Amino acid sequence: MAQADQASDQGELTYVRTTCAPNCTGGCGMKACVHNGEIKSIIQAADYEDAEHNPRGCLKGLSFSNLIYGPDRMKGPLIRTGAPGSDEFREAGWDEALDYTGSELRRIIDTYGADSVAVVVQVAGTGHVHKGSVVRLATLNGFSLLGGYEMNGDLPMSAPITFGVQSEELESFCWPDAKYIMVFGSNIMSTRIPDAHFLVEARENGAKVLCFDPNYSGTAAKSDEWYSIKPSSDAAVALGLIKVILDEELYDGDFVRSYTDLPILIRSDNGKRLLANDVEGLSAPEDMPAYREAYVAYNGSFITVNPEAWTFR
Ligand code: SF4
Repeated sequence: MAQADQASDQGELTYVRTTCAPNCTGGCGMKACVHNGEIKSIIQAADYEDAEHNPRGCLKGLSFSNLIYGPDRMKGPLIRTGAPGSDEFREAGWDEALDYTGSELRRIIDTYGADSVAVVVQVAGTGHVHKGSVVRLATLNGFSLLGGYEMNGDLPMSAPITFGVQSEELESFCWPDAKYIMVFGSNIMSTRIPDAHFLVEARENGAKVLCFDPNYSGTAAKSDEWYSIKPSSDAAVALGLIKVILDEELYDGDFVRSYTDLPILIRSDNGKRLLANDVEGLSAPEDMPAYREAYVAYNGSFITVNPEAWTFR
């Protein structure tokens, strides 16, 4: 064995607490076993205070060092020299790359407007500083900012497009409390790996699980009922279900008035929410921030809904 190899073998072995951020939104806590500055293996950290979240992580995260040390890993800026798709690049220094990026952004902004530049960040919770700085870059320059969830396939992508939010309304941690679960647009067993066990626990607790998916997916296989809908017909199926629920008054009126936006009225002429300022005698509450709009609900009479505080009056 060469002398250098002998010396490196004597280096200290340390475990570094880290997070699997790039693969999916799971953000699983990991420990990297580091020897002489090189990751030798990755194991699940299993150190979350809530035992339900331990262990957390999958093979993609455990094998991430293959990407870090893989032959295709980009270690510095490259500038394209050939046509798109030609795979021809040359190495560049950081100063040149930053100047080039800046001048191209300037050209695009001057030609098409600042909002023609769309910036994508992965879920900010998996890296506050580097993802936050990208958000800051976008907001300072007036770029279009796409939320992280729209680009992730491990949760329903339709939700942020439709509602503007993804999963803030429900933690997967709460799934085992449910009695009836309908899965739309998500293959939890394959793409929501660290939380998939919550779905299994829900079933073990007696919940009935329905999966709406064109494919007999991993989640469909674990469901009580599988509905093989036509691709892209999720919305039509859901709207059909909603129509029956409304027509037959199968909803809990007190619950939907207190906890959902079902009572908010929708204009039939443009399909948008009816705003308080559109209705004579109603106005936005004074304490509501200017960037919000007060909606209108009907509860025997028209009432204003403050979406910031979610109060009705
Ligand atoms: S589920 Fe796998 S890929 Fe996703 S964050 Fe956890 S370890 Fe990474």
